[in-house]
Amino acid sequence: MKVLLVEDEKKIADFVCAGFKEQGFACEHCDNGIDGFDRASTSSFDVIVLDIMLPGRDGLSILKGLRKAGNVTPVILLTARNELDDRIEGLSLGADDYLSKPFFVEELIARIQALLRRVSGERQNILAVGDLKLDRISREVTWCGETVDLTGREFNLVEYLMRSPGRVFTRTQILEHVWDYDFDPSTNIIDVCIQRIRKKMASIGVGADGASPIESVRGVGYRFRKLA
Ligand code: CA
Repeated sequence: MKVLLVEDEKKIADFVCAGFKEQGFACEHCDNGIDGFDRASTSSFDVIVLDIMLPGRDGLSILKGLRKAGNVTPVILLTARNELDDRIEGLSLGADDYLSKPFFVEELIARIQALLRRVSGERQNILAVGDLKLDRISREVTWCGETVDLTGREFNLVEYLMRSPGRVFTRTQILEHVWDYDFDPSTNIIDVCIQRIRKKMASIGVGADGASPIESVRGVGYRFRKLA
């Protein structure tokens, strides 16, 4: 577990780092926003603990910069007093949690552990290929935030193919996994289902280049294209 702490108040940084070390976390500390953003952008951390009021560059600007660059490292904000507006802005910018000062380091550690459990659970439940996302819990497929309106069977088929982008699946494999029972392999039930999925995806513009994400591989079956 590697944590980046960006905090300019030395007393707070010292007790947080000491608490992290006691817990067995590796802790790197930056005392200003410029270094904090630089380290967060160039190195990999399990979680970033980010103070809002910082010299050089404030925490919200750092958070915004990271999320804009596609950095999804979980972030916990440290807020002073009752900075309600900052907290709301922070959450809308993509912070995962916040903690108000003063706090006990034990509470911060508990929040980090809860956050990482949540994030790892979410990651397993979301499949993503390019901008196409499939949520196994809500059973929704979205493209740039827009939902592809799929039936249960169509969803299962997309999920099966999306688990291994680029891999070709035969019709028999697809039948066994998505339909659960043996059809005559010469049936066109899969092809019909895929045509419907392609149509639904095309209607909301999936695959900006006009090609469907589900490719036919002649004589073999289908595969999910790796989308840019
Ligand atoms: Ca500060």
